[in-house]
Amino acid sequence: MSEVQILASVETFLQRQHGHFIHGQHLEVDRRRIELINPATEQVVSSIAVGNQQDVDAAVHSAHDAFLNAWANTSPYERGQKLNKLADLVELHAEELAQLETLTTGKLIHLARHLEVAQTAVFLRYFAGWATKIHGQTMQPSLPSMNGEKYTAYSIRQPVGVVAGIVPWNFSLMIGCWKIGSALTTGCTIVLKPSEFTTLSLLRLAELAIEAGIPAGVINVVTGTGETGQYLINANHIKKVSFTGSVPTGIAIGQQAMKNDLTRVSLELGGKNAAAILADANLDEILPTLLQATFVHQGQVCAAPERFFVHQSKYDEFVEKVTGAIQQIKIGSPLDESSMFGPLSNQPHFEKVKHYLDIANQNDQVICGGQVIQGTGYFVEPTLLKVQGIDDPLFIEETFGPVVDVIPFESDDELIRMMNHSRFGLTASIWTNDLAKALRLIPQIEAGSVWVNMHTFLDPSVPFGGVKASGLGREFSDAFIEDYTELKSVMIRY
Ligand code: NAD
Repeated sequence: MSEVQILASVETFLQRQHGHFIHGQHLEVDRRRIELINPATEQVVSSIAVGNQQDVDAAVHSAHDAFLNAWANTSPYERGQKLNKLADLVELHAEELAQLETLTTGKLIHLARHLEVAQTAVFLRYFAGWATKIHGQTMQPSLPSMNGEKYTAYSIRQPVGVVAGIVPWNFSLMIGCWKIGSALTTGCTIVLKPSEFTTLSLLRLAELAIEAGIPAGVINVVTGTGETGQYLINANHIKKVSFTGSVPTGIAIGQQAMKNDLTRVSLELGGKNAAAILADANLDEILPTLLQATFVHQGQVCAAPERFFVHQSKYDEFVEKVTGAIQQIKIGSPLDESSMFGPLSNQPHFEKVKHYLDIANQNDQVICGGQVIQGTGYFVEPTLLKVQGIDDPLFIEETFGPVVDVIPFESDDELIRMMNHSRFGLTASIWTNDLAKALRLIPQIEAGSVWVNMHTFLDPSVPFGGVKASGLGREFSDAFIEDYTELKSVMIRY
């Protein structure tokens, strides 16, 4: 086993006494601290401060001031340029950011490099391009003209103001930058509250933003727990909450935002995503892609499938081949470039997944995997389960881990009924060469995204978000613009 050498700059960053990043500066604060644990070694790698009301108010004040002054005085072109410059700096510091993510989340280093950090730059550049393309419309009113007067009307899109961005731990840097990109390109400013488990990469990114010429106060980061997030949602001048995380937290946040004079809210939440493998699918062809999409980042991806529906005629072959493939997955240190599967990201999540594995073992539902790996680190095996009907908790609840059910189906009606038997509706996929059948099934599937012969791929040009309890609102494409801007109508009589 050969592990990647940790950069000196990363070692130095880990040893800092981290505070918040407010008004362009690292702000040391004397607050309760939380230790950041490397999930592969269970060793403390650094610590962060738990932000209180005063910290949040300082960050929001700075963001509000920057919204009214510094950022308002930039042209759309300049905003785009600065986001592009930030993307350049992300690329320049790619290894440093990737190592920070791996050390605090257990994400495989090659995934941190080639997915998280690389895609962060791609998304920032995509949002940068929108800065110069946000526009309203002109209209021709039909009001009667009594004395020869005329009317014209137009609409403008204006930034909503200060955005609260609340971020989960699984792709902290990338999801944080989805929020930064959306806010900054539309002319908003932002206060981010990263996850208490994965805070460092966004603190480092905020420093890079200053280097990129983004004015102080446009991006602020307040660290801490859900309590810190609560202060942020309720702070004066927050005009929009953009939340990514679990369904219960999302619903609570949505209710609270509504109570605060209808603060806008977008919610990107969990899923229990389905992959439907139809009778004609060639398993040898599809399995490498399907399994990669399923077990990427140890299944801790909101969009990844947790339920495989397999046509009865292919069920035995599918189970045998998936079992064989899972047994080949090399589990190891996330800093070892040859590892294919690392630890779960943090201890509470490890306990949650272990709880589901315990139930599966007790009920004799494990087809393959199913064990916690003894020793140091939060490692579990990638797991395939059978379920006891569609009301089985293992069929219904999101594990957000490398635990996937396999269920046979016979008819298309049965398939659709079982796929939609869920409170969630984030993503789904169909695996087939029968495009006509796929096109008939797609409208019947209750999910925000449906893929054909692929799963778990996000692209900035394609809107992303959930239906049912999986969320509210859409990110990316031009869909985010409505969420981050107010539409103002202007009518003129002349
Ligand atoms: P979580 O809901 O526990 O926490 C998310 C964030 O909210 C963290 O920063 C946390 O500190 C903060 N928070 C917690 N309670 C809060 C409160 N009461 N008020 C304000 N902030 C609060 O989620 P998690 O465990 O970090 O992430 C895993 C979940 O996120 C999974 O359910 C997963 O499906 C979902 N997720 C969804 C997407 C998506 O785009 N749909 C992407 C990634 C993760």
